[in-house]
Amino acid sequence: MRFPLPLTVKIAKHIIKHKIKRTPKFALVLQLEPLHTCNLTCTGCGRIREYSTSLKDVMPLEDCLNSANECDAPMVSVCGGEPLIYPEIEALISGLLDQSRIVYICTNGMIMRKKMRDYLSSVYAVSQEPVLQKLVDEELITDKDVEQIRKGKMKGKPVIYPSKWMYWNVHLDGLEYTHDLVVEREGVFKECVLAMRMAKIIGYQVATNTTVFKETDMAEIEQMFEYLSAMEIDGHTISPGYDYDAAKKDMASRLGKDPEEFFLTREMTREKFARIQDWSERFTIFGTPVYQEFLAGKRELTCTAWAIPTRNVAGWKAPCYLMTDGHFGSYHEMLDKVEWEKYGVVDGVARDPRCENCMVHCGYDPSGALGTNYQSGDNWKNMVYNFGPRPKTIKAGADIAAFNGVTNGHGHLTGPGNGHHNGNGQTNGHSKGSCGSEASESNGSCATNGAEEPTLVQISKR
Ligand code: SF4
Ligand code: SF4
Repeated sequence: MRFPLPLTVKIAKHIIKHKIKRTPKFALVLQLEPLHTCNLTCTGCGRIREYSTSLKDVMPLEDCLNSANECDAPMVSVCGGEPLIYPEIEALISGLLDQSRIVYICTNGMIMRKKMRDYLSSVYAVSQEPVLQKLVDEELITDKDVEQIRKGKMKGKPVIYPSKWMYWNVHLDGLEYTHDLVVEREGVFKECVLAMRMAKIIGYQVATNTTVFKETDMAEIEQMFEYLSAMEIDGHTISPGYDYDAAKKDMASRLGKDPEEFFLTREMTREKFARIQDWSERFTIFGTPVYQEFLAGKRELTCTAWAIPTRNVAGWKAPCYLMTDGHFGSYHEMLDKVEWEKYGVVDGVARDPRCENCMVHCGYDPSGALGTNYQSGDNWKNMVYNFGPRPKTIKAGADIAAFNGVTNGHGHLTGPGNGHHNGNGQTNGHSKGSCGSEASESNGSCATNGAEEPTLVQISKR
């Protein structure tokens, strides 16, 4: 099956229950941001800029768990900031799993290997030795790490353990050269690949999430998915980046750039995503076929941002993950008080000018599952997709030259021309953004100091 059966059944049951009860609005996915601190400073990231005054604030664990109970979404996407920095991340993940939720940990990958070493230490037994040897052989952990793991210091302590209900959801916006450019740091792509490989060996489920921008080369994204298929990665979220307020402000004020140079209009999104339906045959793309038709420009959908609510340090963020017109004390207060009919695009007309170019998954993917703008055959399409066979592994993907950046001498500062060449031999400028200060596993150096302006910017879903 394309997706694990128990997870698909859980989501289907949730939707059917609310359809029978005729609940007008309900949550499918909670975007939970326990903190906004991050160990990277990606170009254009709206989160670390919109909430720059509360970067040190964290949500109490109890509030996080209560938020999930309050909206009762079957899926929780734990994001941020970098959620693995959250001091009680292990307790949060196991608390959400105890509530029988499907959990996605949306991470930039930099601390994943540490968290997995903690897990290995917590369950260490002699029978684990072959796994440890494999990890050493593939240089995913060191002999010193093995010594520490064998000491079992994490026994009895909370850790993030593999579960069929949990996915690592790793942020990847391209192959090495591109990804390291958009996160403004060399070595990040490599660290993500190592962490994903380690996770698969141990038995975690791993997904990726990708944002597409005006400069994104879709042929490169296709290659990236082929490479990830060979790694047997379990699924992919892919969404268009558009010029939402916080990112637009960052682009204009910090970088002095015109956002129109970087973000997608509706028309551009449809061009970029013209082949998304072919891709969903080859790769395990998360999201309904109806949403894919919408992205490809084959139909309209109405925004259902209330189905993917965001809860963060300031409260329930309305109207959506990207745009902020206020924060509310509870999910139901937000549902009641927000004038939802003021948002979205209907029949090509934006009800709010800020929604004009938005086709993001957090506004429109649930629309596909919830049957807004229903067309005959939609339910069947969704069912065939969700219960259909998983696309075959593309073994040839292992031959893709994924490490086309700092690893092969084409880094942004360390490569030929002091960072002015990309992996294709073309010239490129670079951002003046700064590196994060948190410790990370990467050996890559900060790629940002003293270079020129960016030619490719990134705005995350976070
Ligand atoms: S995009 Fe994600 S990883 Fe990058 S700075 Fe923002 S929160 Fe951190
Ligand atoms: S269309 Fe919906 S998801 Fe997109 S910005 Fe508007 S309210 Fe938010």
